[in-house]
Amino acid sequence: MLQDKDRIFTNLYGLQDYRLEAAKKRGAWNGTREMIEMGPEWIIQQVKDSGLRGRGGAGFPTGLKWSFMPKEVRDRPHYLVVNADESEPGTCKDREIMRHDPHLFIEGCLIASFAMKAHACYIYIRGEYIFEREQLQRAIDEAYEAKLIGKDNIHGWPFDLYLAHGAGAYICGEETALLESLEGKKGQPRLKPPFPAGAGLYGCPTTVNNVESIAVAPTILRRGAGWFKSFGRDNNAGTKLFCISGHVNKPCNVEEEMSIPLKTLLERHCGGVRGGWDNLKAVIPGGSSVRCLPKDICDDVLMDFDALREHKSGLGTAAVIVMDKSTDMVRAIARIAYFYKHESCGQCTPCREGTGWMWRVLTRMAEGDAEMWEIDKLLDVAGQIEGHTICALGDAAAWPIQGLIQHFRHEIEEKITNYRTGKPHVQVAAAE
Ligand code: NAD
Ligand code: SF4
Repeated sequence: MLQDKDRIFTNLYGLQDYRLEAAKKRGAWNGTREMIEMGPEWIIQQVKDSGLRGRGGAGFPTGLKWSFMPKEVRDRPHYLVVNADESEPGTCKDREIMRHDPHLFIEGCLIASFAMKAHACYIYIRGEYIFEREQLQRAIDEAYEAKLIGKDNIHGWPFDLYLAHGAGAYICGEETALLESLEGKKGQPRLKPPFPAGAGLYGCPTTVNNVESIAVAPTILRRGAGWFKSFGRDNNAGTKLFCISGHVNKPCNVEEEMSIPLKTLLERHCGGVRGGWDNLKAVIPGGSSVRCLPKDICDDVLMDFDALREHKSGLGTAAVIVMDKSTDMVRAIARIAYFYKHESCGQCTPCREGTGWMWRVLTRMAEGDAEMWEIDKLLDVAGQIEGHTICALGDAAAWPIQGLIQHFRHEIEEKITNYRTGKPHVQVAAAE
């Protein structure tokens, strides 16, 4: 179990003061100049050695991503862009960092920008996060006033930090759509490659990182790569924020050790599943974009990238959505399908047409108004979307449906049979 002393975001546990003086007492901005004096190569190597994998969902190694930036600034400026467009259903971890620990985050922006030789960083914050934007702006103003950042700051690396406000589109969380939006254009994903390190914001070398990835960097440098790596398992290192919602007794955001068993996570921090562990039906372990897992897998699965991938699911944003036996799985996944249909940017045909088609079929299936052969047709169409679109939204729309059919096909079949035989809809067991 992660001890309080090992928590990076200690103030997620209460309403501590977010402002500069209090943040400094908790360790933020402590030894920043010394870390910068160690040089960009040292910083990047430390982040690589720590085993930190991107916390936005994809788990790409952060230090490796930083090393893709050109070593020297030539004809074009370098940029760091932080993706604070946290919109994945079930996910609210970056929100907590911006509310309670903005200085740790701002310090991370400075250090990461220095490591990649960027003098400017843009934070693109979700449109609905109005309080968080105001809170973060207050902290940025404080950091400027104290000369911690700015053109002439005490750390010796001229650095400006800008906050850009999104307008409520989920797709702008996709890194290249985010760059388009930041440039003032319609937020639609670009084809990759080129990746942002080659051609990013305004065509310049850019790294796009998630808030949590940036906010943990200063503590990794302060405490050492080995310290961070001592948590979790090989290739799945560190501490991690988990957002737990749904049918638990006490939904919460919590920082825990990576690779913690799912059951331990829920019982230690959320008072367990509503009605007890045996009342569990399924869990979506990483935000709506991953496949759900039935109870028998949840019994002993570990919460990390590799363990969840073995079950064809994923850690994603570590947003754990718990569903007990009262859940109608077909309706639940149909609702998720509606979300992707609504948020598709419409650029590519499989996603634009497919997400709407899948949602319509699932909506009928939720009532039982379908034919048995349509289950395989739905699976086939989901497979045709997966991997055939410009961005990951197409995959994200397909995976929950594939998970439903893989693990809960019998629920769809039962609905269809009942509808055809005129039996009333059977309500699954209610929660205690
Ligand atoms: P991705 O795997 O395509 O890329 C991950 C990161 O690695 C990107 O920054 C990309 O530029 C970089 N990268 C990958 N391959 C590279 C290469 N060969 N060279 C250089 N850089 C490379 O995934 P993605 O589309 O960025 O993200 C998908 C994930 O986003 C999903 O897993 C989902 O969980 C997550 N997501 C998160 C939210 C949220 O609110 N945080 C919302 C939607 C989706
Ligand atoms: Fe747009 Fe969907 Fe294509 Fe992504 S997959 S570019 S959201 S149409």
